[in-house]
Amino acid sequence: MEKPSAGLWRKIKSRYNLVGSTCSKCGSNYFPPRIVCRKCGRESKMEDRKFNGNGEVVSFTTIRVPPDTFKDEAPYIVGVVRLEEGPMVEGHIIENSRPIDIGTKVRTTFRKMYVDGEEGLIYYHYKFEPV
Ligand SMILES: [Zn+2]
Repeated sequence: MEKPSAGLWRKIKSRYNLVGSTCSKCGSNYFPPRIVCRKCGRESKMEDRKFNGNGEVVSFTTIRVPPDTFKDEAPYIVGVVRLEEGPMVEGHIIENSRPIDIGTKVRTTFRKMYVDGEEGLIYYHYKFEPV
């Protein structure tokens, strides 16, 4: 069996905890995490940063014809959320009793994303929920 790479573990960590990175030189925040700051280049000093998961909807759309992985969930909403700390994050938006629109405040929640048919592995991922 192949050992998961450090890169994969890093991805899993950021998926489950909404951990991105912050540049301690200029304060820019990134999600997914970056190794080099876009503004500071080789001068950048990157550190892990856990985001609080609160943000607002910047854009959204309803997916009616999904990829196979999500065929049981359609129709569903995906959108771009601007986190309070700045980064723009794409993700599913869960429909609850509150309306979804541009500017709707959302929080992050961790939900089952899909089940891998052959191995029965269940994948979890962040989703957004109106508050
Ligand atoms: Zn920077």
